[in-house]
Amino acid sequence: MQFIDLQAQRKRIEPEINAAVQRVIEGGRYVLGPEVGEFEKQLAAWSHAKHAVSCANGTDALSLPLMAWNLRPGEAVFCPSFTFVATAQVVPWLGAWPVFVDVLPDTYNMDPASLEREIERVIAEGKLKPKVVIAVDLFGQPADYPAIRAICDKHGLKLIADTAQGFGCTLNGKHPSDWADIATTSFFPAKPLGCYGDGGAIVTNDSALAELIESLRVYGKVTPTDAANRNFHHDPKYLSLRVGMNSRLDTLQAAILLEKLKIFADEIEARERVAQRYTAAFTGKLRRVPKVIAGGQSVWAQYVIEHENRDGLQAHLTANGIPSMVYYPVPIHQQDFAARFAPPAGSLPVTEEASRYVLALPMHPYLDAPTQDRVIETVLAFNG
Ligand SMILES: *Cc1c(COP(=O)(O)O)cnc(C)c1O
Repeated sequence: MQFIDLQAQRKRIEPEINAAVQRVIEGGRYVLGPEVGEFEKQLAAWSHAKHAVSCANGTDALSLPLMAWNLRPGEAVFCPSFTFVATAQVVPWLGAWPVFVDVLPDTYNMDPASLEREIERVIAEGKLKPKVVIAVDLFGQPADYPAIRAICDKHGLKLIADTAQGFGCTLNGKHPSDWADIATTSFFPAKPLGCYGDGGAIVTNDSALAELIESLRVYGKVTPTDAANRNFHHDPKYLSLRVGMNSRLDTLQAAILLEKLKIFADEIEARERVAQRYTAAFTGKLRRVPKVIAGGQSVWAQYVIEHENRDGLQAHLTANGIPSMVYYPVPIHQQDFAARFAPPAGSLPVTEEASRYVLALPMHPYLDAPTQDRVIETVLAFNG
């Protein structure tokens, strides 16, 4: 049994993928070839956003807006601790300070009340300047964007939606980029929309920001706006106006993603069916089953349950040939790299409690009913 069955998806669209890869190899435009621009267009359309800019991975996607906003030492970025390390690690990478915010016990997404408290505390302490909030669509479902946006507006903060696990999720039919200044995503193979290697993108309605990020991903190259406002005495192709990086999506990956995007809506529906079947079987029988925010559509990157004896259940599943994963056993604020930024012990009670009980079960669009029934029966047979 597979935890995430990527081969089932590959077999479904095997001729299309193979033909797309062949086309790129024969076409010879391996870096920023035509498939990259076409994919960006379709990705923006998917989110009903004005712009999408692709890059090398989801971590770069998070760092690019922080670079564009000129994040500096002494500035605070508020983010959850119950998430993949990349969400927080980009902050000290750019010299700024991550301030950890607690999550809600039922959705595992950022708790707006905790966010408000942390912003007030940082302002009262007077050491750091609040600048950015990074909300995460953990396990595939949208954060409470209306509440988080209102808090950001009140304090004049930028909002990033880290939608690496949740790209495609909606809240009342709207996408995270409808509220956030920018949404970032990852095409790591195991994400709901993944490629065959590393990849990432940003989606935004802010045209100036999109243009700046397009420049930053290629060493700060000259943008059309730069060219309109200034005369260059050299071919501007080899001029660099700002410190950027090299972060591009391979043409091959864009070609693969174009094929995957065609079946993505159908796959989200299949994931929803699998999730509903799990929830129907587990409700009332476990410490916790997933709950999606009212009006939300999750893309079910993970199906995460809670059990009093999580480690015992995981051993029981392993003994029965059923794969499972713990996301995340150690919250970020308790990891070595974050020791400097850690709040006092016990400051993030919901995060610390969740990390002790969560367990992710096999979840992908191609999980058939008999296989899923084996997972369900094995979970329910455990009485440890
Ligand atoms: C995977 C992930 C990232 C990082 O994406 P990469 O493509 O692996 O760099 C960032 N944030 C979250 C929430 C993720 O799950």
